[in-house]
Amino acid sequence: MKFNTKVIHAGIEPDPTTGAIMTPIFQTSTYVQNAPGDHKGYEYARTQNPTRDVLQNNLAALENGQHGIAFSSGLAATDAILKTLKPGDEIVSTNDLYGGTYRLMRKIYEPFGIKFKFVGMENPANLAQHFTENTKMLWIETPTNPMLNIIDIQAISAIAKANNVLTCVDNTFASPYLQQPLNLGADIVVHSATKYLGGHSDVILGAIITKDEAIAKQLYFIQNASGAVPGPQDCFLVLRGIKTLHLRVERACENAAKITEFLLNQPKIANVYYPGLESHPNHEVAKKQMRHFGGMVSFDFKNDTLETASKVLENTHYFSLAESLGGVESLIGHPASMTHASIPREERLKVGLTDSLIRLSVGVEDVEDLIEDLSKAFALITD
Ligand SMILES: *Cc1c(COP(=O)(O)O)cnc(C)c1O
Repeated sequence: MKFNTKVIHAGIEPDPTTGAIMTPIFQTSTYVQNAPGDHKGYEYARTQNPTRDVLQNNLAALENGQHGIAFSSGLAATDAILKTLKPGDEIVSTNDLYGGTYRLMRKIYEPFGIKFKFVGMENPANLAQHFTENTKMLWIETPTNPMLNIIDIQAISAIAKANNVLTCVDNTFASPYLQQPLNLGADIVVHSATKYLGGHSDVILGAIITKDEAIAKQLYFIQNASGAVPGPQDCFLVLRGIKTLHLRVERACENAAKITEFLLNQPKIANVYYPGLESHPNHEVAKKQMRHFGGMVSFDFKNDTLETASKVLENTHYFSLAESLGGVESLIGHPASMTHASIPREERLKVGLTDSLIRLSVGVEDVEDLIEDLSKAFALITD
């Protein structure tokens, strides 16, 4: 089955009792048994829910995995993966990481004795030096947030494998339509389905996908034992969102590429960050491992002040000022004061995250309207 068919059909059958073409929302906490232990495979809804099963099977197919495990949020999914580790184990992680993941690692798991190293991975050759005999897992995001750096999944998971280390990829920014890490050698994929998979800014949900039976078994155990499961209505919303994933992401990428072109010609702009640009340091890697270059674009201004950024942030109409990404509507954000406010200014500046840096999550509106929206806001900047 090809990807564009999988989003609509993989793991999804009409409801056997009614023929309903849409997966029913099994809004129940428990299931009636005929006799003790004599049931239809469902006992209690933390452990199993038919709506969740369908979503999990669909997600597994989208990432070319064998097992999907759904959670109540992206961070709950990440939390479950970290629970597979023991005190003394080490994780080597990318340094520009989703803020919530960084917080979970540093504030929750470090006090339990798990060790984290945060390192740049744009050059895979630098990776092996960070491994010790206790390193159990490599954690990456690509493209990264908000600088849109690209990490070579195939190269770094090969290095990890050679060192007996599992590779875990947060594939939220790319979505399985653009990039399938399991095909490139990764062991585990994690998603915030809140973003592109859900796609309509109306649900919080997370998922893990793997081909590895033993890892999946452990994660299903944690899903039930720790209990951060998604509700059936939320599973339904993500299933519904996924049906148009290919169309939405395709259009978002097209729009983002055109907006990037527009941004490059703006005299007030200093830098434009987009993996589709030939000048992007890892453009060739992006070309190799992604179908298109994504719907996220970042840029900053020559007059690098919060005031300049604010002029734009406060004066766009189709781009709404908000956190999150991956929905049908375009969003605009200011990482320095929003998602990355907890990072000291000097640290931010070192990676190019300047005071005026703006991040766009490009939606699926008409691109001419989006460009006009930005253009009008840029006109308000007085140098
Ligand atoms: C949003 C996000 C998360 C966290 O997901 P939630 O669903 O908000 O818990 C993790 N990783 C990335 C890259 C994200 O963008």
